[in-house]
Amino acid sequence: MLAEGADLGGDMAKIDPGKYGVNTLAVRAGQQRTEQGENSEPLFLTSSFVFKDAAQAAARFADEEPGNIYSRFTNPTVRIFEERLAAMEGTERCIATSSGMSAILSTCLGLLKAGDHVVSSRSIFGTTVNLFNNVLSRFGIETSFVPIDDYAAWDAAVTNKTRLLFLETPSNPLTEIADIQRLADIAHQRGCLLVVDNCFCTPALQQPFQFGADIVIHSATKYLDGQGRCIGGGVLGSEELLGEGIFGILKNGGPSMSPFNAWVFLKGLETLSLRMQAHSRNAAELAGWLRAQRGIERVYYPGLAGHPQHELAKRQQKDFGGIVSFVVAGGKKTAWRLIDHTELFSITANLGDSKSTITHPATTTHFRLTDEEQRQAGISPGLVRLSAGHEDISDLKNDLRSALLIALN
Ligand SMILES: *Cc1c(COP(=O)(O)O)cnc(C)c1O
Repeated sequence: MLAEGADLGGDMAKIDPGKYGVNTLAVRAGQQRTEQGENSEPLFLTSSFVFKDAAQAAARFADEEPGNIYSRFTNPTVRIFEERLAAMEGTERCIATSSGMSAILSTCLGLLKAGDHVVSSRSIFGTTVNLFNNVLSRFGIETSFVPIDDYAAWDAAVTNKTRLLFLETPSNPLTEIADIQRLADIAHQRGCLLVVDNCFCTPALQQPFQFGADIVIHSATKYLDGQGRCIGGGVLGSEELLGEGIFGILKNGGPSMSPFNAWVFLKGLETLSLRMQAHSRNAAELAGWLRAQRGIERVYYPGLAGHPQHELAKRQQKDFGGIVSFVVAGGKKTAWRLIDHTELFSITANLGDSKSTITHPATTTHFRLTDEEQRQAGISPGLVRLSAGHEDISDLKNDLRSALLIALN
């Protein structure tokens, strides 16, 4: 069922996404005013929709007439969010979901069956690893993990059962960059689809469809909201890929986005580009500054000229993003002391907030890995990850400087 929204009665036509740039789309795409003439998008906080008569109800259920039935399927506020994000990523369709994880789950349930195989970058969000290894495996879907930038390993891991190649770029927490075009070519030569989790860059900085990706995943919880308020996500791609299987999971499985959350995310999208520029600016400043400090052994940030994929990042991204990781001398003890002695940084594993956050990957986001797995993945005991927020850069530096002084003594 492809339930298009009912005409809201207003006189405003939706804009044509093909005509405009991403910043215009971020504030305008998908909006259709009601007869009230509101300027800001309306919040339709309703679970169901009424029909003018029994015949109309029957026509809607039979998919003979477009329009809303029930907010598990469609809701006008959620639809504005979906159309806006799809326009910004440059694709036909978005299906909004209750979280980033349910976006990945819905994609797998919608496109895979028992016996199918997934090849994934090993540098992905920890819960996604758990979903592949501990949940989907129980339903007969197996996953192989490969180093993100070892293209021969990606190709070698594909079997005749492989349906999806899955990655995040830049990776978390080491900000490794994969060449999306190259992986799309491998996927398509082998009859597979390329799925890119674009959480770290957002369409403001990177549009994976331009490089051949088939599906883009979002955790709206992070930068799309940008102020740490709501959980949500989305799956994006062509009508053909999303329309049947994945939308069917939404209708029948119910991981739908709440209209309230969609409204919050819509307001987030309006400022997304500005915020991503500001996050990137503060992160670049912190990365450069950290590199010059005593007691810092290594800094990971794609914007640094010494980053192994700096040139690729410049080609593939508009800016380098808000995440910086670094290794302090003295291992876990120093890392914990540094974290504990910051005043402005929130100690939380979340990211993409206007508040700067700080975390110790080895004992939080990556604690489930064995010592050997951590070593392989580059998660050393002294590694600290920052998500740069919008505080004054001088305050962030001063805070890190005094925390570092205490931690090293
Ligand atoms: C947080 C995150 C997710 C999961 O999103 P939720 O909204 O927390 O379910 C998926 N991928 C990446 C890269 C993330 O950072």
